[in-house]
Parts: sequence; C-alpha cells; structure tokens
Amino acid sequence: MTNKIKLLPDHVANQIAAGEVIQRPASVVKELLENAVDAGSEIIQLIIKDAGKTLVRVVDDGMGMNSIDIRLAFERHATSKIKVAEDLFALQTKGFRGEALASIAAIARVETHTRTKDEEVSHHLKIEGSNVIEQTFSTQPKGTSIAVKSLFYNIPARRNFLKSDTVELRHIIDEFHRVALAHPGINFLFFNNGNEIFDLPVTSFRKRIVNVFGTKLDSLLVPVEESTSLAKLEGFVLKPSQSKKTRGQHFFFVNNRFIKSSFLHHAIIKAFEGLLKPGYHPGYFLFLNIDTKRIDINIHPTKTEVKFDDEQSLYAILRSAIKHSLGIFQIVPTLDFLQNQAIELPYNYKDKTPSTPPIEVDSSFNPFKNVKSKVPLNILKLEGLHSDEKTEYTHDLKSSKQLIETPQITRVFQLFSKYIVCPLKTSMLLIDQHRAHQRILYERFLSAITSKKGISQQLLFPIFITLNPQQLEQFKETEDILDSLGFQIKLKDHKTLEVIGAPELCPSHKIENVIESILSESDQISDNQHFSYADQVAKSLAKSLSIKTGDSLLIIEQQRLLDDFFGCKETTVSPFNKKIFITLEKSEIDQKLS
Ligand code: ADP
Ligand code: MG
Repeated sequence: MTNKIKLLPDHVANQIAAGEVIQRPASVVKELLENAVDAGSEIIQLIIKDAGKTLVRVVDDGMGMNSIDIRLAFERHATSKIKVAEDLFALQTKGFRGEALASIAAIARVETHTRTKDEEVSHHLKIEGSNVIEQTFSTQPKGTSIAVKSLFYNIPARRNFLKSDTVELRHIIDEFHRVALAHPGINFLFFNNGNEIFDLPVTSFRKRIVNVFGTKLDSLLVPVEESTSLAKLEGFVLKPSQSKKTRGQHFFFVNNRFIKSSFLHHAIIKAFEGLLKPGYHPGYFLFLNIDTKRIDINIHPTKTEVKFDDEQSLYAILRSAIKHSLGIFQIVPTLDFLQNQAIELPYNYKDKTPSTPPIEVDSSFNPFKNVKSKVPLNILKLEGLHSDEKTEYTHDLKSSKQLIETPQITRVFQLFSKYIVCPLKTSMLLIDQHRAHQRILYERFLSAITSKKGISQQLLFPIFITLNPQQLEQFKETEDILDSLGFQIKLKDHKTLEVIGAPELCPSHKIENVIESILSESDQISDNQHFSYADQVAKSLAKSLSIKTGDSLLIIEQQRLLDDFFGCKETTVSPFNKKIFITLEKSEIDQKLS
C-alpha cells in the first residue's frame, strides 16, 4: 500500500500562507512599508498604480541586503529579525514571521533592487509565482526598492474578489496612515497613479497627525499622558464633539504597532461616558508602551491583534487617563449637544422666512354633520374602516380631489419632543418624528437622484470645503449623484470644493457637514454590495438633515410632517428599517382601564 500523505511543494505552501497574510493590495503595502521601517530608513516612498492592483512599489534608503540575503528574503520562515523563540517576547521590529515576502512572491511578479552601504553595486532579483526568473547586478542607490506587480495574476479567483479601485485605495490609505502615524521620524511620500497624495516631513507626533488629517484637527486634539509601572500611555483623543457614528479615527498603537482591540476600544468609550450620544464613537490616536515580555503579538498572521497579560489593568489605566484629560481640558462645557435646545429655532425656520400657511376651505363642510377626521387614505386603511366611514370618505374623495392630495389632520400634538400623536376615531397613532422625517427625505432624495431633477438653490456666499485625499477619491465617485441632487460643486486646486448651490432641502449651515458625511460614509457604501450607491447617499442625506428627537415642532410643522409622511411610498419602516409608528386601539385603552 502506498502512503497518501505528501509534503506540499514550497510554492503551494507559500500560496496557502499568502491567503492569510495577503488579502488585498493594502496587505502588500503594509508588509512592504513595515519592512522598510525595520530596515532603519529615513525616507520611504510608496508608489501605487490602479489602487495597487497593477503595482505596489516601496522604495527606501535603509540598510539594504547583500546577494545572499536578497534570495533568502523570499524563502518562507526566513527572517533576520528573530533567531530563537524567546526573541518573540523581546521584539523591537514590526516583522518576525519571515513569511511576508515569500507569500507575496507566490502570488505576484516581484522585482527587487537592493544595496547595502558597503557595496558598490546593487542586486536585482525577479521572481514570478515563487520562481526566480533573473538575478543580476544593477546600479541603484543604497536601500531597497521592491515592486509588486499584477497581484493575484495566478489566482484569478482572488483577483476577481477585489473591490473597486476606490475601496482598495481606501484600504491602502488606511494602512499608510497607520504606519506613517507611528513613525513621525520618517519622511513618507505616497504617489497614486503618478500624483503625489502625501509628502509627510519628519516632525512631532502631533504635527504628523495634522499633516495627515488636515489642520482642522489641531485645535480638536486633547493630549493624554500617563505613566505607570505597567505601561506608558501617550497621545491624543479628539474632543467629544468630533465623535462619529461611522468608522472614525481610531488609532491605537502598542509598542509602535497598530493594533485592533475591541476590549481597549471599549475602555476609551467608557472614558467618554456621558459625553457622547448613544452609538457615537470618539476619535483617538494613542500609543501604549509596554514591556515586550507582557504581550504576545504572535496570535494572528497579520500581527494586528495582541494578547496582554494584564488586560484589566490596562483597561483601567486607559479609562482613567482619558477621563482625567477630558476633565483637565474642560471639554464638558463646550459640548454641542448640551446646548440649550430651547433657544434653537425649530428645524425648518432656521433658514427661511416663515410663509403664510395655506388655508383650505372645505365647501362641503356642514357643521351639523357628525365630524370625521380628515386623514389620509392610508391611515384610514390602517384603522380598519367601518362601512359608514368608508362611505363618508369616498364622498369626500368625489367631492374634493384636493382633499387627498393635501389632507388635513386637525388634531395633532407632540409628545416628549419625540412623537407626534394623532387621534383617530377608534385609535391613536404615535409617530416617531425623526424616523418619519428620514423616510420623507430619503424618498425625495432618491427620486431626485434617479430623475436627475434635484432642485438646486444658489448660495449667497460659496462654501469652501478642504478634502483629504481619501475624500477626494470619494468625491470623484459621488460627483454625478451630488449633481443630480442639486449640489453645484466645483473642484479647485485638486483638494478644495467650492459649493455654489445646494438642494433646496439642505440648509446652508449644514452643507459642509452633509458633504463630509457623504464622502466619508461612501467608503462603507461601496463595500456594501447589496445597496446601490445612490440609495446609500440618499440615506446619508436623510440621516443628516432629518428632524431629530428633541426638536420641538410647531403645530403646523407637525401637520406638514404627517401630510408629507403619508404621501410616502412606504410608511411602515424608516430607510434604516426601523418602525415609524404604532397604533393604539381604543379597545386596548379601554381594556387597560377596565
Ligand atoms: P519579516 O519581516 O517577518 O522578517 P519578510 O518576509 O517581510 O519577513 O522579510 C524577510 C527578510 O527580508 C527580513 O527579515 C529582512 O531581513 C529582509 N528585508 C525585507 N525587506 C527589506 C528591506 N526593505 N530592507 C532590508 N531588508 C529587508
Ligand atoms: Mg516583514
């Protein structure tokens, strides 16, 4: 009998390992940048084409490799960074597993030039799908340049799995941010399709954050510092007013390595307790320095997770240090949402001169007739009509078509600044004002996008918005949709938007926020294959512009809201799939009181 078990050939083993380490172009970027940092470089250039699908190249001026090392570098488990298992607990480098280059070489065409400071010539090595094609000499300056071309060229299934260029570029920018923020002492340059998108000079950590994310952030950073026998913590949190519902700026580094830890993220959220609206997350840039013996970084192939030997204490340190900083810098009184709501004007009076409410005269009105509430047809459907009511309403329909188009609900009131209560004959409707308004706006914006007939209003003064490179890419993708909604936007000097017109439904003081949230939410949008881009933009706008819980509304606004709401195509759920209203039957109330 022959034995069945065989050792896998190296190139197959490498391809399998690559599946864990290299998921997308951004993974290549991460590994190459980290190697360049480990090589002690002062200047690192990242050059990509087509969101890294065609090319990812990293050029550094670090220590380089000699003719033997350049070959060994692409072998699996070949590393210069650890020698014995104990070294795993004394890591000073980003790499140590010795598998990144072997994995990359198994699934791409890789071309390397490298020279150490002692050698006169540089070495050139070409590898395709783990096979060495060519090794020669070249004349390159000191340092290493590794170009990774046609990623996944030999694994079509993986290549097809890649997302749009915008999404892949966003992942690359994320990885670039993580490495660049952790190393303000290195000059990083980043070119995408020949355009420079970052040139980050050597600077302090604070300035690096500002250089990456824009000067606007400078005044929003709250320093955090704490030193204990277990760990040293430093960095910044963003003021609570900058908290976001979506993926925000969450940067947590352990010994200069970007780490994901939901446990410690939670500690940070806890520190902001009482300062954030529910579901919002604070932004942070935090560095934890801890004795390498107290952590295990080798628990995940991409080295973005870590095991601490005393997680509970770290949780406590983080929470109290941040709380303390927020206290010292007296963040609390400046919170936007603690402002007195009462002095704010109701939502649709903010930017408008109030108009005279239209008065409708019902010519068929007979004061001696038993009065029925004149509510839209679909509420009546909801009520489960009695036959006499049906007759009455049908009569109204015939006598005045106008009535269905602009139905009047005579008795409504607002409850808890959150619900609109609308009594009907044998029941009562309780409508969530925020969700109902989201539904109205969502349908309007969606129809504006699809019909390309968004009504635009010229602004008195143009609004300028500076975009970061990521938002700029999103803008290019979203431009058409914004246009069909009624935004009139010009792109100036490759990073500033000049807004000269906006949809009628968008008050001018909200324009900046609305555009920023569309441009930062759309990265999640394109990740989500189930919904169209237009749909997600309409949702984003509906979310930003809707009446909120806590807004007090005038009676006429309440009526208008209900009229508009019952004109919607869908009335049961909000665009985010939340129930909009409930009905309370008279019989239920009677029963409760019996
Ligand atoms: P690891 O970083 O885990 O050691 P890699 O596969 O990423 O594994 O790299 C293998 C080895 O190749 C490294 O240990 C290092 O010695 C060498 N190397 C890789 N990139 C560079 C570079 N840019 N400059 C100098 N040496 C490099
Ligand atoms: Mg490495």
